[in-house]
Amino acid sequence: MSIKILPQTVADKIAAGEVVERPASVVKELIENAIDAHATTIRVEISKGGKQRIKVADDGAGIPADDVPLAFRRHATSKLSTIEELFQVRTLGFRGEALASIAAVSQLTMTTRPADCTGGTQIRVEGGVQQSLSPVGAPAGTVITVDNLFFNVPARLKFLKADATETGHIFRIVSHYAMAYPEIRFALHSNGRQVFQTDGSGEMFDVLVSVWKLDTARQMVPVHAESDTGIAVDGYVGTPALHRGQRDQLIFFVNRRSIQDRSLAHAVAQAYHTFLPIGRHPVAVLNISLPPEEVDVNVHPTKAEVKFRQPGAVFSAVQRPVRAAVLADAPMVRAAKTVGNGSESGWQGNHAGEPFASLGSGARASRFGFEMQRTLPTDDPFPINDAENSLPPLRVVGQIQQMYIITEGPDGLYLIDQHAAHERILYEKMMAQHATAAVARQQLLSPELLELTPGQAAIVAAELAALNAVGFSLEPFGGTSYRLLAVPEILAKADPTAAFLDIVGEMAEGAVPLAKETHERIALIVCKRAAIKGGQTLSTEEMLALIRLLEQSQNPRTCPHGRPTMIHMSAYRLAREFGRH
Ligand code: ADP
Ligand code: MG
Repeated sequence: MSIKILPQTVADKIAAGEVVERPASVVKELIENAIDAHATTIRVEISKGGKQRIKVADDGAGIPADDVPLAFRRHATSKLSTIEELFQVRTLGFRGEALASIAAVSQLTMTTRPADCTGGTQIRVEGGVQQSLSPVGAPAGTVITVDNLFFNVPARLKFLKADATETGHIFRIVSHYAMAYPEIRFALHSNGRQVFQTDGSGEMFDVLVSVWKLDTARQMVPVHAESDTGIAVDGYVGTPALHRGQRDQLIFFVNRRSIQDRSLAHAVAQAYHTFLPIGRHPVAVLNISLPPEEVDVNVHPTKAEVKFRQPGAVFSAVQRPVRAAVLADAPMVRAAKTVGNGSESGWQGNHAGEPFASLGSGARASRFGFEMQRTLPTDDPFPINDAENSLPPLRVVGQIQQMYIITEGPDGLYLIDQHAAHERILYEKMMAQHATAAVARQQLLSPELLELTPGQAAIVAAELAALNAVGFSLEPFGGTSYRLLAVPEILAKADPTAAFLDIVGEMAEGAVPLAKETHERIALIVCKRAAIKGGQTLSTEEMLALIRLLEQSQNPRTCPHGRPTMIHMSAYRLAREFGRH
């Protein structure tokens, strides 16, 4: 084949592919432009996951009529003119590629007016070709509508995911920028319904509440620090009780640009060392401010990655304050530290409910949390016969650490984990109800309206039948809203909305074995939520009731996740430990 120069339209489409991968990339570039134009309000509307339409409206500087066609030329930018400036960039854009790229692969309309001009301008570009340019009356600012993205690149169109997935990507982009720019009012609407909105208060915390809801936001603590190397770190990190199955809630900005960086994710993860269960990830939203010449933002066409001149200094500037914040949250937790364990490891937070203690040597981690370390020697001449499942009658002696019940049986001491034991009891109850199709529900006095995030709504829609099968009663209420009419009886005492959202959160993390039937997996999560937590003082009557129910269980010795509910120390073992043998 002879060598030919590509026609401009083909070259443009190829170049566009570097910047515009999916609808969320368009949203990202348009939001960045609005921020660079000093907008105070940015409204994003999408339909069909952005595939059909993306509209971004801002009240920023606008573009003077004469410059409008120029803005769509490749390498046309108002933000940079010399190569030296590239290492001083203070704006989010600088490559002058976004508008040209987006217009090359869509049908785009832009209406814009600078505040000090009397009239505005409207331009229409289709597949990179200008269709019209005319004066119009318009409010100050810029509105860009991108219709039918990739209409002329069928190969790209094929790679787009379901609407819900693309909406999820867009939600992440808009919410991240809302976190980085809390002084700007953001709103996201999808298919005509509001997904979320921020109030421009200037407080990142308010944005976290809008985006993640109060329940999650109030488990986050602020971080403000400046290293002696002049690197400032600001934001919020989750307490150790707030952990996730995925790393996607480690959110970083560098000079308020949303970026991805493995090394920073690692710095934060390390700060939680010994505080999180293995395989779980913390939640953090952090902005790193440093002089622009200390960071190269031009290493990637989408500007999603950056290069630090001194990565080591950034790493420790981030890790130190995060570690301090995590430790500062620990006193509550230290009070409940495991007896005989002098190190930081081995505690359980009484606000967490679930053991998230670190691993002492010899302890085994499961992906659900922790199996308690069995410190007993293994040469017991009378070991527990695991095949013989039933429990002997047990006498309650007392409770320690608001977590374990000490009981005495015919052969020595039984130490019982109250949470694991209760989980076992509830799980068998739910499974028995399910088997006889007699699921016990608690009708709510007044139905609760749930406004779900797109991610939550996708899970609920997919698992609606299974959720109803375990005792919830949910009714779609348009868009991502649902009405909650009833909860499983074992959750009767919980705050229904909070419990439901927790459960959906756990479902999102896939924190239960996939091999199980869906309703069983959901039942496991419900039981975990409903079971008595560690950190709860129990009366003798309550302990007795729990032990009686445990005695009646089919598998009293393990919780439904497979962790032990009890540790047995035989009379022989006790005598030997005390040197009586
Ligand atoms: P870049 O942002 O890298 O400069 P773009 O292609 O994204 O390149 O935008 C080209 C130019 O169009 C910008 O430099 C800016 O002058 C102008 N522009 C784009 N979007 C807006 C907007 N929302 N408000 C004001 N000006 C804008
Ligand atoms: Mg731009």
